[in-house]
Amino acid sequence: MKELLKKMTIEEKLGQLIQIAPFFYIKDLKNELYGPAVDLGLSKEQIYKTGSVLGIGSPEEMIEVQKKYLENNRLGIPLMFMADIVHGYETIFPIPLAIASSWNEELITASARVSAKESITSGIHVTFSPMADLTRDPRWGRVMEGYGEDPYLNYRFSAAATKGYQGKNIKNDGIAACVKHFAAYGLSEAGREYNTVDLSEYQLKQNYLSGYQGAIDAGAKMVMTSFNLFNGIPATMNKHLIKDILREEMKFNGVVISDYNGLRETIIHGISKDNKDAAINCIDATLDIEMVSGTYMTELKSEFENGTLPIKLLDEAVLRILNLKNELGLFEDPFKGVSRVEHDKIVLSKSHLDYAKKAADESIVLLENKNNVLPLKENQKVFLIGPNAHERNLNGAWSWHGKRDVNENLFDLLSKKNLVHNIDAADVVVYFGGEKFNESGEAKSKTDINFNFGQLEEIKKLSAYGKPIITVVASGRPLILTDVAKHSDAVIQAWFLGTKAAESISDVIYGNVNPSGKLTMTFPRSIGQVPIYYNALNTGRPKNNYDNEYTSVYIDSPNTPLYPFGYGLSYSKFVYGEIKLNKEVMRENEKIVVEINVSNDSSRAGFETIQLYIRDIFAKVSRPLKELKKYQKVWFEANETKTISFEITESDLVYYDSNLKQRIDEGDFIVYVGPSSDNVKENIFKYSGRTKEIWL
Ligand code: BGC
Repeated sequence: MKELLKKMTIEEKLGQLIQIAPFFYIKDLKNELYGPAVDLGLSKEQIYKTGSVLGIGSPEEMIEVQKKYLENNRLGIPLMFMADIVHGYETIFPIPLAIASSWNEELITASARVSAKESITSGIHVTFSPMADLTRDPRWGRVMEGYGEDPYLNYRFSAAATKGYQGKNIKNDGIAACVKHFAAYGLSEAGREYNTVDLSEYQLKQNYLSGYQGAIDAGAKMVMTSFNLFNGIPATMNKHLIKDILREEMKFNGVVISDYNGLRETIIHGISKDNKDAAINCIDATLDIEMVSGTYMTELKSEFENGTLPIKLLDEAVLRILNLKNELGLFEDPFKGVSRVEHDKIVLSKSHLDYAKKAADESIVLLENKNNVLPLKENQKVFLIGPNAHERNLNGAWSWHGKRDVNENLFDLLSKKNLVHNIDAADVVVYFGGEKFNESGEAKSKTDINFNFGQLEEIKKLSAYGKPIITVVASGRPLILTDVAKHSDAVIQAWFLGTKAAESISDVIYGNVNPSGKLTMTFPRSIGQVPIYYNALNTGRPKNNYDNEYTSVYIDSPNTPLYPFGYGLSYSKFVYGEIKLNKEVMRENEKIVVEINVSNDSSRAGFETIQLYIRDIFAKVSRPLKELKKYQKVWFEANETKTISFEITESDLVYYDSNLKQRIDEGDFIVYVGPSSDNVKENIFKYSGRTKEIWL
């Protein structure tokens, strides 16, 4: 690639740093109309030098554009096509927040693999996924795109998705993963989209970077910067974030791209004076590609020609992009994998749909099941109502290519069972409500995340009939379900589950699937509790004498959430024994083995996700009340008991202190194991290794 770089003119190099949007591109190249591209200030000749395109066309269109482009590109450097394949291409999987509830990394990898295979047949080379932004505020509409509030799960799941997209050999059958949005976009103030983020670097490192790091450690080829200001400087041009933290500390050596028009947003933020200033700020921060703006091309040519900017800055960026094209195999085959025949053969194929069904089954979270009203028996008569009962689009945001007509709706499925249309004839009522598919996602922030008022009123009216009510909730975020839970006998959190949503919901209702999902984001009792998350810090207030409650409380609500992190019911009944440790003291370079017996005390086989948390009681900075460190998702036959064992090593005890150093301290640690973050057994051990600053 270095040889190729030598042959390139400055303008050809700058072109590689430009990503142009599809509409103009595909249309313009096909029709020889260059009007809209002028919006980016680029001439026809310059367009044939740009490096990548955002968006998807049909296999035929992708072939046509690449062909035309190569005919006009002096050095024959192929275009790279990028798109948002977030939870499926045509076979749509549960939204990321839903599939996170499966706590099944293999399934996350498999879903990304399927997405990659289908995308490749349409000529996609890079996906803008996974979104590794840690989220604690359900008012933000994009919580649906992430994996929730826990740094450890964010690390594991982002890594799992990256492995799936990129495959074992990216050149043969992988697409590059572009992890986004760097950094801390999930912390937008007040949950308002694109809003400021103000965060200490210690918190950034302790909690917010792990998701991106997971993807990077799994080999992610690209990182996208976020729209938000980070401590006063837009992330897109934040040299400290991109250069010092991402490239140096986190050891990322791939391509960094801005978010959509993010480079020019630095002007609106009031940090860059004009386009030229913005381009200089961003290239200096080592932002490689600008998404859908052309300022590097229009503003920087003279700067590099006259040496105001060091050419090394440009060469390094271009080389990173050329290397990626090379790793993807595009120089060998610019039409890698694009094929109408292959596309039609594998898209929505039986095996892909089976994965989507399994993912939907394992993503459902059963929140309430009073008197074991669920599962229903086949002969129970059901009255089905609610705004989502006939809805086919349960795909959720970022599923442009999902075909709705292949989806079932719950009404049609239950009609095959024992549906009555008259409530008087029914044994139970199933109410399917919640959000519509377009109520969460980008730019879908809300101030009111209560379950829809009108729907709640309907449920209350239905409850007057005295029949059990099963409420199924579709949503892309935790909604406030406090009143819904009061007026329902069972509550099923059904998220947006994709192509197989209705089948999975029906299977859970009738018990063909035993629900096993566990929440990865806390469900608050009321909006006033937000942000609320399990791994919080203690206050300095002691417990009081008369009811042993902490005195840092609301006067109008308990502190506890409605449904905590890690929570989810099953049709099986799991019973936890006591925690046994193989030793009381852990010395340097040693590990502790934690064992616990878990029994399925029921005649129903099922999955249980056993969670291990620790608490560091005394440290240099206040440490969370609990932090998830391990988990295992285990299948139990009816009435089966298993001994589950975990190993705790020194790396599980490491944290960042206020000098931004990772360290581990001597002292006591509590270990907790249980079915959710608020329902745990505990034991204690001592770490007596040397107090040390670590291993950086
Ligand atoms: C979103 C990104 C997305 C990009 C390209 C932006 O508005 O923030 O997540 O990848 O558009 O579609």
